[in-house]
Amino acid sequence: MYNVSSSKAEEFICHEEILETLDYAEKNKNNAALINSILDKAKLRKGLNHREASVLLACELEDKNKEIFELAKKIKHEVYGNRIVLFAPLYLSNYCVNGCVYCPYHFQNKHIPRKKLSQEDIIKEVTALQDMGHRRIAIELGEDPVNNPIEYVLESIKTIYSVKHKNGAIRRVNVNIAATTVENYKKLHDADIGTYILFQETYHKKSYEKLHPKGPKHNYAYHTEAMDRAIEGGIKDVSIGVLFGLELYKYEFAALLMHSEHLEVKFGFGPHAISVPRIRKADDIDPSAFDNGIDDETFLKIAACIRVANPFAGMIISTRETKECRSRLLELGISQISGGSKTSVGGYAEKEPEDSSQFDISDTRTLDEIVSWLIENGHIPSFCTSCYRSGRVGADFMKYTKNEQICNFCTPNALMTLKEYLEDYASPYTRKIGENLISKELQKAPKSPRTIALTKNLELIASGERDLRF
Ligand code: SF4
Ligand code: SF4
Repeated sequence: MYNVSSSKAEEFICHEEILETLDYAEKNKNNAALINSILDKAKLRKGLNHREASVLLACELEDKNKEIFELAKKIKHEVYGNRIVLFAPLYLSNYCVNGCVYCPYHFQNKHIPRKKLSQEDIIKEVTALQDMGHRRIAIELGEDPVNNPIEYVLESIKTIYSVKHKNGAIRRVNVNIAATTVENYKKLHDADIGTYILFQETYHKKSYEKLHPKGPKHNYAYHTEAMDRAIEGGIKDVSIGVLFGLELYKYEFAALLMHSEHLEVKFGFGPHAISVPRIRKADDIDPSAFDNGIDDETFLKIAACIRVANPFAGMIISTRETKECRSRLLELGISQISGGSKTSVGGYAEKEPEDSSQFDISDTRTLDEIVSWLIENGHIPSFCTSCYRSGRVGADFMKYTKNEQICNFCTPNALMTLKEYLEDYASPYTRKIGENLISKELQKAPKSPRTIALTKNLELIASGERDLRF
């Protein structure tokens, strides 16, 4: 039976409730009066529940769909402003004991070279990332208690934070490791991580078990309840997501929102971020195992509906998406993207070896190209990591986003971190358009003590100071 506050996966992600939701959405997909009332509620920024949001996702009325897209854009702008935060994944090890059928790192794949970075390798990778201008990374590694124990993860985090090359520093390490124990989550919390990231892959239990035939990840309940344990271990920022394409997208969408509602009800704050990866081609993967691929238009609609339903969670896309698709997604509520990414182990310091990536990248531009593209398209590229370091996490962070005050932090922090980037890493062209953007944003800014402080800080950065933040 459905119970949003239950600790049991099959009660807070209740299969019957999802089926009823899909049925309700299907019956009401052309019910203009109901859709209007849902949109009116969404305009109040109170969020939507999974049933209401599923009706919007199913909606086939062209004018209402336009309204959904417009509202998504408006919410994104009002809550987060026009900044887009940049990050890079850092793959530490591709050893894995799981058998996920959609991932080339599954243990049965014998033709992928297995590699695990030593602490010396990590220093090289982090130096290369710092030389690109990155400040925020997400570490990724397969599940393997022998090769990738928690001690290795903790030591690696310490190493990453310790590297200070020229003016560079990684200021936030987000962590994407397999579901683990409360005790291990406590250790990650004490290691000062930013967000704990774990994708559900699919919420559909039967499909989940089929797609994860071997290894500890086969345990649906243990995986689905991981965020509860992470929060119990003290981690306040968690990031959820599904891998679109594994199961029917309407099912995943409803379940994703149910997961968010569960965290909100049980802990008083929802996910810090929601990721929307789509399945990609990769080595040794049988595409017939998951024939639920979605086209770009559907994907855009999903992103818009998530933004409307959950105005306060950050939304993340990776370089799996093409430049064109990323461009449209940015308008609809995406607040964070990866840039200049390598998805192989050791891919930053050295040329990526053939066939060792976790998945194909569609957007292969350099970080500098992404930064200039964002500027040209009216966004402020941001390397900000301020909230985590200022204690604005969990319920406290949500308080700022719900009052729509977070943008008073995001915009000035984006401008200061962009200024650092322009001073230390940008190409002449990016520097020129970046400086123009900063001047324009300062002219637009209200005459307030915050703007006076920002102007002063930008001057300090120009004269060599680093790591100023609000
Ligand atoms: Fe291992 Fe993760 Fe790939 Fe599954 S998705 S095979 S757990 S690396
Ligand atoms: Fe993210 Fe907070 Fe920085 Fe805004 S101020 S970009 S929410 S870390």
